[in-house]
Amino acid sequence: AKQSGRNAYRIYNAAMTTENHQRQALESDLRQALKEGQFFLHYQPKVNLVTGAIEGAEALVRWLHPVRGLVSPLQFIGLAEEIGLIVPLGAWIMRTACLQNAAWRRAGLKPVRIAVNVAARQFAEPGFVESVAAILHETGLPADGLEIELTEGTMMSEGEQMIDQLTKLRNLGILLAIDDFGTGYSSLAYLKRYPVSVLKIDQSFVRDLAANRDDQLIVTAIIGIAHNLQLQVVAEGVETLAQLDYLKAQGCDVYQGYYCSKPVMPAAFMAMLEDQKHR
Ligand code: C2E
Ligand code: CA
Ligand code: CA
Ligand code: CA
Repeated sequence: AKQSGRNAYRIYNAAMTTENHQRQALESDLRQALKEGQFFLHYQPKVNLVTGAIEGAEALVRWLHPVRGLVSPLQFIGLAEEIGLIVPLGAWIMRTACLQNAAWRRAGLKPVRIAVNVAARQFAEPGFVESVAAILHETGLPADGLEIELTEGTMMSEGEQMIDQLTKLRNLGILLAIDDFGTGYSSLAYLKRYPVSVLKIDQSFVRDLAANRDDQLIVTAIIGIAHNLQLQVVAEGVETLAQLDYLKAQGCDVYQGYYCSKPVMPAAFMAMLEDQKHR
C-alpha cells in the first residue's frame, strides 16, 4: 500500500510539474521576449458608420515566439499581468503606438486616433498618468491622437482614486473608452460619474446580432443609454453586412471588425489611410 501510494503521488506530482514547467517556460520566454524585441503591434481600423471613413485604429500586441510562432495575447497578457511584466510591456506598447501615429501624422496622412489597451495592473501602477504624458511629449503626438481602452473591471476597482486618474488623463486631452462593455459587473451609475467618452459594445453581443432578438434588444438599449449620456458608441467584432446594417439602423457611431479588416501590419494600415484621401 505504501508503494502504490507513493506511485500515485509521483504521478500526481509529475502532472503538476509539467504544468508548472510549461508556465515557467512561458514566463521566462516572456521576460526574454521584451529584451529581444519579439513583440510588435497590429492595427485594426475603426470605421465611422455614417461616412464609411476610417477614424482611427486599435493597437493590438502580437508576440512572435522564436519556436512557438505567433502567440495570442489571450495566452500571455494575463500572465504578463500576474508577473508584473505588463508594466514595462505596456509602456513599450504605449510608446510604440504613439511613435507610429506621430510618424503617420508627420507624413501628412489623414490624422487619426490610435487606441491602446491598458491593463488593470498597468493603470494601478503609481506614475501611470505621468508616464503617458511623458510618452506624448517624447513622441510629439498630440493628445487627441491617443485613446485609452480600459475594461469595466479596471474602472470599477479603485473608486475615487480611479476617477482622479481618469480625470487627469482626460484633462491632458486623451480620449477614454470603456472596453468590453456589458461583460463585467456593469453599474450604469459609473457611466455618468466617470469621465469617459466612448463605450465599446462587447463582441459577444454582436456575434449573433442578425438573428438573436435578445442581442438586438441589448444592443439597442446600450446605444440608447450611451447616447443619452453623450457617449460615442463603438461596436466590435462586426463580421457581416447584416450586423452592420442593424448597427447603422440603431444609430451606432463606429464599428470595428473583420467586415472592414482584420488587425494588420502598420504598412497595410497606412495604405488604407492613403486610400482615404481619394474619398
Ligand atoms: P480586445 O481589446 O477586446 O480586442 C479585440 C479582439 O477582437 C482582438 O483580439 C481582435 O483581433 C479581435 N477581433 C477584431 N475584430 C474581430 C471580428 O470581426 N471577429 C472576431 N471574432 N474577432 C475580432 P486579439 O488581438 O487576439 O486580442 C485579444 C485580447 O487581448 C484583447 O481583447 C485585449 O483584451 C488583449 N490585448 C490585445 N492587445 C493588447 C495590448 O496591447 N495590451 C493589453 N493590455 N491587452 C491587449
Ligand atoms: Ca480593446
Ligand atoms: Ca473589446
Ligand atoms: Ca475582449
